[in-house]
Amino acid sequence: MTSGEKFFDRLLGRPPESHLPTAHVPVNAGLQIDLDNLGRVLQTHGPLRHRLVKHTAEQHPEPLVDYLCAHSAVVIEGSPADWQGQNLDLDFNGFAGRPLQTRGWIQPSGDGWVLQLLDIGDLIGHREHAEAREQHQLLSAQVSERLRVCSLTRLPEVVQDNLQSIAQHFQIPCVAIALLDEQDLGWRVHSQYRTFDAPVLWHDGQALGAALDSLGGTAPLSLTLTHGHSEHPRLQGIFANAEGFLVPYRDDHGVAAWLLCGFYHAQDTFERDWLQLTAALAAPLLSRLREQRHQQQLDRLEALQGLLGTGWWELPNLSDDIQLAPQLQQHLNPDEATTRHTLSDWLRLFHPADREELASRLHDLQTLSKPLSTSVRLHRLDAAQNPIWYRVQGQALGVGNHRRLVGFMLDISDIKNQQQQAAAAHARLDNLIASSPAIIYVQRYVEGTLQPLFFSDSLLPLLGRTLAECTAASLIEWLHPDDRDLYFERTRQLLREGNVRSRYRVQDKQGNYHWLLDEARLLRDDLGLPVEAVGLWLDVTEATLAAEHVKQSEERYRILVEDSPAMICRYRPDLTLTFGNTPLANYLECRPEQLPGLNLADWLSAEQRDSFVQRIGRLTPEFPVSTAEISLQLPGREHAWWVWSDRGVFDEQGALVEVQAVGRDNTEVRRSQQQLTQSAKMATLGEMATGLAHEINQPLNVMRMAIVNVLKRVRDGDAQIDYLTEKLQRIDTQVQRAARVVDHMRVFGRRSEVEQHPFDPAQAVEGTLSLLSEGLRGKGVELRLTPPDFTVQVKGHVDQLEQVLINLIVNARDALLGQREKQPELRPWIAMHSEHDGRHVRIWVEDNGGGIDPRLLERIFEPFFTTKPIGVGTGLGLSVSYGIVENMGGRLSVSNGEHGARFCVELPLA
Ligand code: ADP
Repeated sequence: MTSGEKFFDRLLGRPPESHLPTAHVPVNAGLQIDLDNLGRVLQTHGPLRHRLVKHTAEQHPEPLVDYLCAHSAVVIEGSPADWQGQNLDLDFNGFAGRPLQTRGWIQPSGDGWVLQLLDIGDLIGHREHAEAREQHQLLSAQVSERLRVCSLTRLPEVVQDNLQSIAQHFQIPCVAIALLDEQDLGWRVHSQYRTFDAPVLWHDGQALGAALDSLGGTAPLSLTLTHGHSEHPRLQGIFANAEGFLVPYRDDHGVAAWLLCGFYHAQDTFERDWLQLTAALAAPLLSRLREQRHQQQLDRLEALQGLLGTGWWELPNLSDDIQLAPQLQQHLNPDEATTRHTLSDWLRLFHPADREELASRLHDLQTLSKPLSTSVRLHRLDAAQNPIWYRVQGQALGVGNHRRLVGFMLDISDIKNQQQQAAAAHARLDNLIASSPAIIYVQRYVEGTLQPLFFSDSLLPLLGRTLAECTAASLIEWLHPDDRDLYFERTRQLLREGNVRSRYRVQDKQGNYHWLLDEARLLRDDLGLPVEAVGLWLDVTEATLAAEHVKQSEERYRILVEDSPAMICRYRPDLTLTFGNTPLANYLECRPEQLPGLNLADWLSAEQRDSFVQRIGRLTPEFPVSTAEISLQLPGREHAWWVWSDRGVFDEQGALVEVQAVGRDNTEVRRSQQQLTQSAKMATLGEMATGLAHEINQPLNVMRMAIVNVLKRVRDGDAQIDYLTEKLQRIDTQVQRAARVVDHMRVFGRRSEVEQHPFDPAQAVEGTLSLLSEGLRGKGVELRLTPPDFTVQVKGHVDQLEQVLINLIVNARDALLGQREKQPELRPWIAMHSEHDGRHVRIWVEDNGGGIDPRLLERIFEPFFTTKPIGVGTGLGLSVSYGIVENMGGRLSVSNGEHGARFCVELPLA
């Protein structure tokens, strides 16, 4: 009996026991049972009798059947006499539920019978064992065969199937195979199977930790846990304290797999068989997994080579043919399939410039075994394309006939091209620094001081100095004496705080000082100790001087703005002031610092404000300036007139951000203009005195006539009431007429208001006629009027337009009367008519006085220009009229018509 079998005996719970030899047993060696004729047991003998549950005959003999296992009862039907001459296989009820399997015969003995029986339990056991083993081996063979032949993709499925077969064969609820983790993270359940009703013990991929490691040393080994008891308490975790059984598989490196059986108690099977079964499962599985890993590695390698544009090459020692990895071939020449080339063909793939070097290095490798490492370009016919660079490396392997040259080629175009780009960028940067007003420097930290270590090439063009001339001492010397303290402080601050920014003057070789802006940073080592300072000198001489200039000119401008007599301010589009100079503040009776925040609109009437905002709204980056006369209402003061010039400041999107404005008080000018207008008006009135006298005389005459007549009738005593009434009514009409004229003259003589208002120009025409028509008629001048059939509105002052029309008509009258003196047959007339289009209304005044001398046409609007004798003409009429019309946004113009002068008053519609 092998130690394994003993172990299994222990395992299977068999009591240690010597086995009986199977043949030629002495009669008293087995079991003898004395029976009576009815087959009842009288007596039992022999050593086997102790294995029977019943071994002593009772007081009343009992039938043999009572001693037997149920299935043996059928063997002994009838009485002992019937059983003679037969082999009797009888299983007796034994201890611990284990039957005593016997074979024997019956023979007469005295007046009864004796049954001679031998233990054949072992024989049966062996046979069953052999059968089981055969099945076991069959299973093992199947398991290993399936694993060996399946495809790698089906491997997990096949492992499952195998575990299922094992589980079903041995009726194991849970089976699993545990393998060592690839990353050496301990044991892991590779695959598991459980019958549908079994509890979950494991899952695929589950980590089992190190519990299984401690068992490896005692292999070959199987372990049984009986209800959670084991010599290896850590296993209890794996088997969840239930029964379990586990079998190792060992290969040349030790235990490589475990078969785990949960809720299972191994039965009559030898450990050898379990080991064999486990091996049949684990060995091919491990080998297939290794194969799988290998395959994956190959795939990865292939993918990597494909991605990197790399691959191996091999040159057998005595051969002239080079073999290339397929991916490499694909990369080098996708059109060609063959991976084997002659050496010269291969070399021809490379750029002529690199070919010789590669050939020579390859030769060195062949003859001297000197490792090859070089970079080469592919020979491409299209020169415009970026070159493709390969790194070629190689080494000799093996000796003698087995010597071969092996290497790889790697596409390094990216790196090479980047290198070249970087080199170009570097060169450009060097160039840039050399030609820029910047110097990069490095100072080394030596015992608390900073010593010049490096200067960029720009040092020479900028300061005319070289690195060799720069020592710590000479640097101090070159510093402007006034700035040396600054420099020392800069160094101290740099060492203290790690960075510094300062500005000082350094002398160049010609003796000129440069303002240098110095930005430096201290670099420290791992321990925080200073190593070196890296810095940048920027020549800011020009900027510094320019800034100085700007400062000076800013100061000048500031003074200019402050001291300017003009009012200067800045305001936002909502008219809020952001700045105002002293004159503006004085004007507004406050201090300049009180101006910001005030709103210009506060001093404008609603109308003025609207037109102001509209005007500002029309500013654009293209036309940023607008000038206008604005009138302001300052509380408690007279109206002020400013000539105001605005310049818009715009942001990048063209939106108005701010307005800068310059203003001049124009009130005086305005006032004198108004006075001028007024005096002109008065002059007009004076002018018209004659006409007016006529105008008033007319009703007076009528009234006098009426009164004379009435008086006469009264004196005659013939004053009837009807007659008197009629005369008095006539007088009243004439009084009203005279009052109207006087009224209108009063209104006309008044000063105009400040604000303009909309009105119908026909009103002015009417007013003019009320003052002039009678006088004209008296002088024999015909008025040709075409009354307008429309009403429109213009903006301004109705009395001023009337003044204009009066001037034009009076001038026409004068020209006509003058002309009639020379030409008595002239029948003078003045025509007046108006017309309008969508935007303007035009009032035409024309006469037949012969017109204006073309040489004078340009001058008649000049103030004080007159052709009339001194004391008669003022020369203001037309110039004031021109100003009035212009002020209304219109235009006064003149031309000579067929008969005489034609004046046109053109006004924009409101
Ligand atoms: P004044 O009437 O006081 O001379 P004005 O400015 O009104 O001043 O006119 C300037 C001059 O223009 C006149 O002196 C006259 O020579 C000329 N003028 C104006 N209107 C006419 C007209 N309708 N026909 C001819 N000349 C005219």
